[in-house]
Amino acid sequence: MKNITTTFKLTGLALVIAASLTACNKETVTAPVTQNNAEKVAAPLTAKDAQVFLDDVAKEMVALGLEGARAQWIYANFITEDTASLAAESSQKSTEAGVRFAMQAAKFDNVEVNATQRRQLNFLKQSLVLPAPQDSKKSAELAQIGAKLGSIYGKGSYTTKTGEKLSLGDMTSTMATSRDYDELLELWTGWREISPEMKHLYTRQAELANEGANGLGYKDLGAMWRSNYDMPADDFANELDRLWGQVKPLYEDLHCYVRTELGETYGTDKVAQDKPIPAHLLGNMWAQSWGNIYDLVAPEDADPGYDVTKQLAKHNYDEIGMVKGAEKFFTSLGFAPLPETFYTRSLFTKPADRDVICHASAWDLDAKDDLRIKMCIQKTGEEFNVIHHELGHNFYQRAYKDQPVYFQNSANDGFHEAIGDTIALSVTPKYLKEIGLIDTIPDESKDIGLLMKQALDKIAFIPFGLMVDQWRWKVYSGEISPENYNTAWWELREKYQGVTAPVARDADAFDPGAKYHVPGGVPYSRYFLAHIQQFEFHRALCEISGNTDPIHRCSIYNSKEAGKALNTMLEMGSSQPWQQAYKVVTGSEQMDATAILDYFAPLHVWLKDKNQGKQCGF
Ligand SMILES: [Zn+2]
Repeated sequence: MKNITTTFKLTGLALVIAASLTACNKETVTAPVTQNNAEKVAAPLTAKDAQVFLDDVAKEMVALGLEGARAQWIYANFITEDTASLAAESSQKSTEAGVRFAMQAAKFDNVEVNATQRRQLNFLKQSLVLPAPQDSKKSAELAQIGAKLGSIYGKGSYTTKTGEKLSLGDMTSTMATSRDYDELLELWTGWREISPEMKHLYTRQAELANEGANGLGYKDLGAMWRSNYDMPADDFANELDRLWGQVKPLYEDLHCYVRTELGETYGTDKVAQDKPIPAHLLGNMWAQSWGNIYDLVAPEDADPGYDVTKQLAKHNYDEIGMVKGAEKFFTSLGFAPLPETFYTRSLFTKPADRDVICHASAWDLDAKDDLRIKMCIQKTGEEFNVIHHELGHNFYQRAYKDQPVYFQNSANDGFHEAIGDTIALSVTPKYLKEIGLIDTIPDESKDIGLLMKQALDKIAFIPFGLMVDQWRWKVYSGEISPENYNTAWWELREKYQGVTAPVARDADAFDPGAKYHVPGGVPYSRYFLAHIQQFEFHRALCEISGNTDPIHRCSIYNSKEAGKALNTMLEMGSSQPWQQAYKVVTGSEQMDATAILDYFAPLHVWLKDKNQGKQCGF
């Protein structure tokens, strides 16, 4: 997804495509919308005018959605100068259409329309992630800034002291595996050399997009982003704080334990035991998920006694076999099998003779039945899990295909990722045994290792998932001024994550810019939500399935009851406030992070024991 930047979130069908492309690597891509003929609407506007406008836009979205999805698909499967140009043109076209749709939709703000019409108009208004001011010069400037920021990030590289030029991909691999403090530090600081030149662009972008948000009736861009969740913008912010408050005690114990282990690895002179953890030691360029340092913190005796990668080989699974296996998970829940075209049109293996984008993603090209995944599948246990996750997107897309185009999307922007992950949480030893991949389920004493791995990836992520937009909201509201961009970023990193910059930052540093979603203009709260929601969905579906095991051992495989509840929620798309969809599975309209605490309960007990007598906190 490196060549395409996103300047607005897509609506309706187009958004379906964006959601699918966003899938799983937390990066985002643009997709299409259109030319529209709604300019003729004249005052005073009525509900009837709104309907004519919405119908026109819907038709255009369908047409451009398909055209754009094809352009993006071809580009991602066959990277050349030409396909890149075609994909960029379609993105541009959709951006322009999205701007017009939003402006036009805002004209109905004071017109009395029915609830469905209002919901559809709001989607159009909020489809612009970075709305342009109503001034063609400023609007062009905003587009140029977006392209420039995307390009600086996309072309970013670092040349080491020994003269080796490294891409972000190269550095990501080394950050995951190196245990050399100085090497990690060099890469960490090296990557952040790309971003100082972004700062003035980012500052101007915030000004312009704020002006655009004002024009659409929002007090600032952050308020506009927060208004996407079927509740007042301020309530949404409070809601995230409340959820974080529920998870925090578990996070603090994980943090405390990991800090101790890192102190043993690198020395307590480098990892002070009463301070935040240096951000370059956690196996990830942004310290956002820590699964790569599992080997440093793995509990003794935690080997589950099997290796899914080896088991896949032993049972002669090839790439298609792995996909068919994952599909069977869904059919066991009562979902219809994937269409034949899924198998003929998807990309499953890395082609030998051309460049493709290998990041796993799930696609829905026509909002009917043309579902696909694009993955360069490796025959490993981890990838088997990823396939389940990707198919979660595909089954979601198909479930809401009969909704009007405006509502062909997940209930809120956290749901799509949450569903993929919910399914992946059911890939447990019990499930692997049921499908004949392993012979015995390891006893519960081995669960701590599996839970630790999950916690390093998922619990560690939660405060990061929260702080990125905490920072942006304050930037957009003016609470954080450009002089303080970087210090405020690190204050939030320390406050929420308990991680710190390993070296003093230069006065011109702009470390937020070294994270894709900041220059890319992609809101981040969705990832926080997805991490909370998936555990609640998992717990609720397990309950519906009649599970009696601890929920970290539960798989909903074969449960028609769980499948039915899941399908009912998925079919709703975004036609209702997300709380209504949430209620279908969880029985509640309110998110609740206690499912996380339940899931990780055995690990939490174990961590508390290990942390006894230590000075935790940061
Ligand atoms: Zn995904």
